[in-house]
Amino acid sequence: MNKDNWSIADADELYRVSGWGAGFFKLNEEGKLVVSIDTQDKRTVEVAIVDLIHGMDMRGKALPVLLRVQNLLERQISLINETFAKAIEDSGYRGQYRGVFPIKVNQQASVIEDVVRFGKPYQHGLEAGSKAELMIALSMLQTPGPLIVCNGYKDREFVELGLGMLRLGFKVVFVIETPSELPIILESSKALGIEPLIGVRTKLFSHVSGHWNSTSGDRSVFGLNAKQLVDVVDGLKEANMLHCLQFLHYHLGSQIPNIRDIRTGVREACRYYAELVGEGAPMQYLDLGGGLAVDYEGTRSSSIHSRNYGLQEYCVDVVETIQSVLDEEGIEHPTIVTESGRATVAYSSMLLFNILDVTGFSDATLPKMEGDEDHNILRELRYTYEALSPKTAQECFNDAVYYRDEARDAFMRGQIPLRIRSKVEQIFMVIMAAVRTIVQEYPDAISEPEMLEKMLSDIYYANFSVFQSLPDAWAIDQVFPLVPLHRHNERPNRNAIIADLTCDSDGKIDRFAQKNDESRVLPLHEILDNEDYYLGVFLVGAYQETLGDLHNLLGDTHVVSIYINEDGSVDYVREVEGDSVADVLSYVEYQPQNLLAQFRQTAEQAVRNGTISASERQHLVNQFDAGLRGYTYYEQ
Ligand SMILES: *Cc1c(COP(=O)(O)O)cnc(C)c1O
Repeated sequence: MNKDNWSIADADELYRVSGWGAGFFKLNEEGKLVVSIDTQDKRTVEVAIVDLIHGMDMRGKALPVLLRVQNLLERQISLINETFAKAIEDSGYRGQYRGVFPIKVNQQASVIEDVVRFGKPYQHGLEAGSKAELMIALSMLQTPGPLIVCNGYKDREFVELGLGMLRLGFKVVFVIETPSELPIILESSKALGIEPLIGVRTKLFSHVSGHWNSTSGDRSVFGLNAKQLVDVVDGLKEANMLHCLQFLHYHLGSQIPNIRDIRTGVREACRYYAELVGEGAPMQYLDLGGGLAVDYEGTRSSSIHSRNYGLQEYCVDVVETIQSVLDEEGIEHPTIVTESGRATVAYSSMLLFNILDVTGFSDATLPKMEGDEDHNILRELRYTYEALSPKTAQECFNDAVYYRDEARDAFMRGQIPLRIRSKVEQIFMVIMAAVRTIVQEYPDAISEPEMLEKMLSDIYYANFSVFQSLPDAWAIDQVFPLVPLHRHNERPNRNAIIADLTCDSDGKIDRFAQKNDESRVLPLHEILDNEDYYLGVFLVGAYQETLGDLHNLLGDTHVVSIYINEDGSVDYVREVEGDSVADVLSYVEYQPQNLLAQFRQTAEQAVRNGTISASERQHLVNQFDAGLRGYTYYEQ
């Protein structure tokens, strides 16, 4: 507890770090946000993220930076595999677990490389949903053993490539999503003389809650319905290939917040599995797809940004449900496959950025009246201000809003000048701040206190683009933990929303996971003149990178990968340079060299006209040239 009655525990509670941080992220005594790693000998080492910024800067990687902590990916892959192994051992399940990572969740080469390397001890495989992803899987895995699960539409080229790899010993599974794929697989197999390993994707009737629930239920666009499934089985029987059908797949959707939905799905899938066994298919694998959720809010609830279960409960429930349903039918236990993407990679990446500027709204002072207090709107607002008390708060709030709107209308009609309007807005904000002070003591004084908070919140201008780096925050209102990287031993006494660099009205973050509920403002610290203020957005490793776009031509950020050693030292393993201005211009079909040449001529014309000198021209041209090579974000 320090002078303003604030402790690290308060900060932890406010930003819910212990909730979403999953033991990987904590606040230390110095008030810094740290990454915490368990060592082999059961110690923990902690690295403060803010302390890495200097190291990155020295390597020419100014903010914004996407930081990858490889240890967190390593740890998640081990946790998923080991927790399943433990659940299998404890329950006496007679089968094993094989994970696959769905490439679409993060296709970046460095991530897939790490997934393969860290997954090797567990034979963790890859899931491919397109030809390009299959190429990634086939070349990155290098040695046979792990599963390569092929979902998505497969044309002849796709199938032949997969069959070729099957011959090399790779376990490539073709999951049939539509009946039309079967003839292609059968013909290619015949032509090449290689027997395929076939899976079927079923459409479950179980419906799940959450944001992605349209991938489940009758109307899901993916997978075979009961009739189509029977057709595929008959087709295989007819071709004398039923022995190739060994794999059953389903996917209920991503981020399933409620464990009950997961159990219901498994139970229904087991019925399909048992029926396929009954049809005579030598079934071996049951693949549950993705869905293992990440608790972005840290509430451990069934809200769409959270999950009401932990990894252990997930694994135990899956193993025990399969065991109990199949034991009833006297069927051998399959190898359990899951395709967890989000839960595997979300933790390992975080977006770090600095605040460039702040517009404050809550510090208004009463304007100096210079003879214009006679203006009736100003006069009314003065009365409103003077009449303010806990009893009159609601009425004064309403009146203030009314007079402010009057003033805006009068301004439109040309009836009041800019300077009067400016004073009106100023008094209005003073009244709002005073109402807030009353509400802090008497929470029921007005009916919509949230509106007041939002109105009085500061705008913190941040050096990144929501569209490029957090597309889901914009597209589907996904909540990500957004937390200062330092100063947690000071009480954050400002309420803010975050605006990005795009000047787009959607380029903002105004939904935050907080102590009690989702909040529309985020408490932050006052920025200081002599010190940068740093924030991080966490759990962004899944889905955010390739879905991001070039809105306002803000490009890819730098990416820095680190590995934290057991002695607490940090290896800078990889750096990927973000887009330069020239890069993003070329994506939209400009040729940077031509732009430069054209600019030279424009400037040369100015020399000819006598507007600037030749050396001034050269200076301009050099600036343009340097600008093309620069980072697309704000450079200090
Ligand atoms: C997207 C997808 C996944 C990954 O889901 P997560 O919820 O991220 O684990 C797995 N399987 C299939 C078929 C998918 O389409």
